[in-house]
Amino acid sequence: MLVINSGSSSFKYQLLDMATERTLASGLVERIGEAVGVARHTVYATPTDGPAPAFLDATRTRELPIPDHTAGFAVMLEAFASDGPSLDEQPPVAVGHRVVHGGARFFEPTLITPLVEINIDELSVLAPLHNPANLAGIRAARRAFPDVPHVAVFDTAFHQTLAPAAFTYAIDAEVAASHRIRRYGFHGTSHKFVSEAAAAFLGRPLDELKQIVFHLGNGASVTAIDGGRSIDTSMGFTPLEGLVMGTRSGDIDPAVLLQLTRRAGMDVDALDDLLNKRSGLLGLAGSNDLRDIRAGIERGDERAVLAFEVYVHRLRAYAGAYLAQLGGADVISFTAGVGENTPLVRAGALETLGFAGVEIDPDRNESPDRGIRVISTDASRVTVLVVPTDEELEIARQTLAVSRA
Ligand code: AMP
Repeated sequence: MLVINSGSSSFKYQLLDMATERTLASGLVERIGEAVGVARHTVYATPTDGPAPAFLDATRTRELPIPDHTAGFAVMLEAFASDGPSLDEQPPVAVGHRVVHGGARFFEPTLITPLVEINIDELSVLAPLHNPANLAGIRAARRAFPDVPHVAVFDTAFHQTLAPAAFTYAIDAEVAASHRIRRYGFHGTSHKFVSEAAAAFLGRPLDELKQIVFHLGNGASVTAIDGGRSIDTSMGFTPLEGLVMGTRSGDIDPAVLLQLTRRAGMDVDALDDLLNKRSGLLGLAGSNDLRDIRAGIERGDERAVLAFEVYVHRLRAYAGAYLAQLGGADVISFTAGVGENTPLVRAGALETLGFAGVEIDPDRNESPDRGIRVISTDASRVTVLVVPTDEELEIARQTLAVSRA
């Protein structure tokens, strides 16, 4: 199975063996359209054990002009041909594509046909940065692999179970309807993967569990999941709403934008840039990387301390809100770059939730172990987990299911 995650000037790929769910090779083709592009291809030796790509065998980086995505796929095919694994001997049975926005139209992974391409294109109105880039990857991949099924897996699909009460903004209903303004939610592939992995790890049926999943990476969102169904999620119309992120503000009074337009003369593009690229941890403390914030706190940098406090304050607010929406939780999981690697954030997010039966074990929380693990005490009524996310594997699984159907 080949999984493609395409951006506007780059794409990532991963080749997986679905019998073992191991990664055989992965790569990144970037700076597409620039004078010199970069292609990195990594081949993994057959690991002896474990689900993750275990033993890095070799990486080769090449620099060459890559004018467009189609040329990028040719470069990728050359890398497979020269460094392996051979796609001639064993071609992929299907190709899975990450697509950011499926609107209200796509609620499950979908076999890509010309009509589906048109729909993804049309949804670019809602995701102008992402969907055209995803589509460029799809079109180039279909040219490179014309004989296998291609499947689109949407970031929004998992949240199509939200009830109208959860996805409707309280604005003029006609304005909202004519511009398709509603909450869609994102990171769905990760939230689905993590909630299912948590249930499997605990040996409990998914449909009996109330779960809260914190996906804390550079982008961050939290989802309330009841019996495997997303019932509320912090990202909304776009991935800007909700938690404090690396460079995004998350929740903010919309009137701030009116004020900045009227008083600071900022136009739409300046506000877009401010909220998406110059806010969050970066705006507060000068770095979007939680590792720098942590180092800043250790140095006594007041900006870093405040950034961390704002970040955690928001996490707690959502934890409380989702405990209320779910009527309590059985499992709370942390995933992605920050969630998997920052005990301080996990402890801060749940510190005040003893009243709700949430009790973190400090030693377990600080443990340098990798892999899925419990960090709550044995007495805690809510099980708190760290669950490494694997969006590529989830896309591959969903693609396999669709291509077999
Ligand atoms: P992601 O979007 O899931 O790749 O997460 C990227 C972010 O995770 C980075 O910007 C860092 O803030 C954070 N991160 C990654 N590795 C670590 C680490 N070892 N310790 C703390 N934060 C980390």
